[in-house]
Amino acid sequence: MQASSSSSAEGSLNACHRLVDDPAFQMGSVAGGSDRAALAEHLAARHVDRAEPCRSCWSRYLCGGGCYHEVARRGRPGCDYMRGWLAFCLRACVELAESAPEFFRRTTPNGAGRHVSQSSDLHNGRPWG
Ligand code: SF4
Repeated sequence: MQASSSSSAEGSLNACHRLVDDPAFQMGSVAGGSDRAALAEHLAARHVDRAEPCRSCWSRYLCGGGCYHEVARRGRPGCDYMRGWLAFCLRACVELAESAPEFFRRTTPNGAGRHVSQSSDLHNGRPWG
């Protein structure tokens, strides 16, 4: 498992720069190293298959559950916006696949030639073949 963290001037390691000095998101120290158990616990508790309300949200694997800082401080006021934006992007992806399927072949990493052959690939959640 790879992870990054941010350190405070006092040497605590936290989940990100926005959560520096928040003890609820401390995962070790510069002096003592990463607290792998705290990190694993943090990630497990916030996994979109377990966290409410994400576990029943259709966009959970695209959204990822939101910014830890925002969720901790303000909750999830942006969920409707996020779902609307993702729905727009998915519709645009389907439209593009139908009208210009070569686009996906050109934009696939390393030109591997994998492409969206039908819009049904997107509907089935397999946009990359
Ligand atoms: S849109 Fe909201 S409820 Fe859905 S996965 Fe993202 S944070 Fe969770």
